[in-house]
This record gives sequence, C-alpha cells and structure tokens, in this order.
Amino acid sequence: MDDVKSILIVEDEPRIRSGLVDFLEFHHFRPTAAEDGLQAEQIVSKHRFDLILLDLMLPKISGEELCRKWRQEGLTTPIIMLTAKGQEKEKVTGLDLGADDYITKPFSLEELLARIHAVMRRTDPAKSVGRRFHLGPLAVDLSALKIAAAGRQKTISPRQGKILQLFAANPGRIISREELYRNAWGESMEEIETRTVDMHIAKLRGLIEVDPAEPALIKTVRGAGYVYEADHELAGPE
Ligand code: CA
Repeated sequence: MDDVKSILIVEDEPRIRSGLVDFLEFHHFRPTAAEDGLQAEQIVSKHRFDLILLDLMLPKISGEELCRKWRQEGLTTPIIMLTAKGQEKEKVTGLDLGADDYITKPFSLEELLARIHAVMRRTDPAKSVGRRFHLGPLAVDLSALKIAAAGRQKTISPRQGKILQLFAANPGRIISREELYRNAWGESMEEIETRTVDMHIAKLRGLIEVDPAEPALIKTVRGAGYVYEADHELAGPE
C-alpha cells in the first residue's frame, strides 16, 4: 500500500516554494506546488491531498479566501497557514476559517516538519492511538464499540468512538467544535451544527463521566471548544 503522504504547497515566492518542494521530497512526502490562489483552487478541485501548506498573501485569490471557500465546500484536508511576521490578526482569522495550524515566516524547516507531523497525527487519530486506547480511567475498544471502567462495560456508537479517539489523540489540546465536527462527521461544519456537537458531547458525558454535570474527562472551554484533561489519568479512581 502506498503510504507516501501528498502535500500541496501554495506559495507565490519561487525560492520558498522550490525550497519546500525539495525539503518535503527529501523527507519522503509527495509535494505538488501551486504559485497562486487560482492555480491552487484548480489543483484542489481535481486532486486529493493529505495536507495543504497555504501561504496567506497570494496573488489572484488570497490564502484566507481559499481556506474559507474550501471549508465551506466541505474540504476536510488539514491546512497549515504560512503567515508573515506582523500578521497576528490574520493568524487568528486563519484558524477561525478552519486552518489547523499556522507557522510564521521566516520559519525553520525543522519546525515546519514538526508541525506537519503534529497536524497529521492529530487529524489522523486512528493512526495515533489505534482502535484500543485509554481515555483517563476508560478502556476504549472501537472494534467492539465498548468502553469499560471500574469493571463496568458500556456500548458506544461508532461516532462516539470517533470523538473519544480524537480526544485521546489530543490530550491537553483544546479542540474546537468545528474540528470535532470535521473529524467525527467527516464534513465541514455549517453554523447550525454547533448544537449538534454540543448535544453529542452531552450524551457522551452521560456515558463516560462519573458526574456528567461536573465533567472530569472532557471539559468545556468557553468560547473555544472542548479539552481532554489527560492529567485525570494520574488521579483516576481505583
Ligand atoms: Ca506570499
């Protein structure tokens, strides 16, 4: 099976673009390059990538506009935004638009590589934690769709399993409702779906929390999303 990851580089500066192509090839990725927003849009309409490196300031269509458009169209490919120094506001906007991470230019290639691996790991929780994993005191088995804690077993739905897997792969990291939805539902989120996510989390808490009103495993972060507190593992009941 071909496990080489494909990466689309969207960057108008020729030196950076070719540097990234060489670097990613050297690290066993399969890079494709686009030099402006329009070209990137055409490439993405025809090909699937494992990750997109998207420059913010681009001719023809900006990175910001592209990111927003792709997410609205339901593209779930992880996106890392390349921003220049002093674009702090845009950075935040970039994440709001559905980018998974950003890196500020000038960046070291080693740092970029670390970010690429991190984004791939967390957007591919199946690879990161597998089908049997622990979430605090819970033992989760996705093949059997069972969770077990303190000798008691419960059945979960495939979607609940996906959500638990995403949290287990991202201890301590706040996961937005948008990211949760993209991962567990496999599509981009419409405005109205935030409630769907919240309702699913509430139901899930009923299954996994000792006291669903005072969640210890999956906590709400006001205005940001949810976080799995891995520290709980150290203080788990037994
Ligand atoms: Ca640029």
